[in-house]
Amino acid sequence: MAQDGRQDLCDLTLEELTRFAIEVLAERPYRAAQIYRWIHQRGATDFEQMTDLSRELRQRLPQVARLRPLEQDLAQHSEDGTVKYRFRTRDGKLIESVYLPAEDRKTLCVSTQAGCAMGCTFCMTATLGLQRNLSPGEIVAQVHAVNYQIASKEGGTRPLTNLVFMGMGEPLHNFDNLKTALRILQSEEGPHFSHRHITVSTVGLVPMIERFGKETNVKLAISLNASTDEQRSRLMPINRKWNIEKLLEACRRFPLRQGRRITFEYVLMREVNDADEDAHRLVGLLRDLPAKVNLIPYNENPGLEFHSTGQDRAERFREILAGGQIAAFIRKNRGRDIAAACGQLANLEPSTEGPGGLNASPASRRPPS
Ligand code: SAH
Repeated sequence: MAQDGRQDLCDLTLEELTRFAIEVLAERPYRAAQIYRWIHQRGATDFEQMTDLSRELRQRLPQVARLRPLEQDLAQHSEDGTVKYRFRTRDGKLIESVYLPAEDRKTLCVSTQAGCAMGCTFCMTATLGLQRNLSPGEIVAQVHAVNYQIASKEGGTRPLTNLVFMGMGEPLHNFDNLKTALRILQSEEGPHFSHRHITVSTVGLVPMIERFGKETNVKLAISLNASTDEQRSRLMPINRKWNIEKLLEACRRFPLRQGRRITFEYVLMREVNDADEDAHRLVGLLRDLPAKVNLIPYNENPGLEFHSTGQDRAERFREILAGGQIAAFIRKNRGRDIAAACGQLANLEPSTEGPGGLNASPASRRPPS
């Protein structure tokens, strides 16, 4: 509920909106379905667009309800086709979403929090700290806004095909809102995304992985990023609470659908976690899991003194994993020129100094010694 007492309709599942229609609007349930489709299928951001509602209802709605939780603030286009969108919440928080078009899919990388509390030492979003959780409507509105823009350029009713919850924030640290957003995004009367086309990535909040497995049906990705606890604790403070063994234990218990695997993300950082021994240890760790590994060459960030692993090293790392029967892929880094790649989302102003340069400088942080 908004501070002014009006209900944010984008936050509600169809069941909740139906209750609202009956109890607050004194309308029949089918009205709720109409409004829900306007919001979540047709991207309406104003009650006046809902032309099949009576004029009387259209005028009454803004007195008790609101739409449009986000305003678009900026769109930056990369030379590789990636687009970084920046949105402003009503209370002035900035969040980013990244559109990644490919031949066979159109993916949106979605944010779940403004900033992040996890404090990973190599990630730019962590420098913001946690500002706040995004509401279900703010999560969903990123998808609607981008869908709408692509549709108006390229046609189609729902051009986005895949969603990855790998933008700003830790999705499982905002689990209830994530879950509501997933219900809306998967609903038949909404954008109707398939569970096969949605992936949620986590740093490894172990108790939440269990709930995530029980209460949702979408795919799981784990940001592993290290092959020993010592290394991982230095890179990802969460490891001091739930170490690699506990994390992998939770993965073994995870209720996987048939044919599905857990994706492990491993950001390759030069001379930090990219040695042959790391790859061999990784094989040992993942051997008994239905796993696939995404190797992500590190995207360098101003003020963070980590460096990317070269292509040859990345390839060698991949080969060692493959030799140990672990399927591994080197992820292409997209959108680096507009700071839209993994771990670069931090609301920095676009550069005036040409690609790659960023004119804001966060507090300098050092790599682990
Ligand atoms: N908090 C969740 C969701 C964000 S996903 C999670 O961490 O899983 C963002 C991914 O980008 C994570 O796998 C993270 O390890 C990776 N990442 C962070 N900083 C990066 C950087 N500078 N270069 C490449 N990948 C990075």
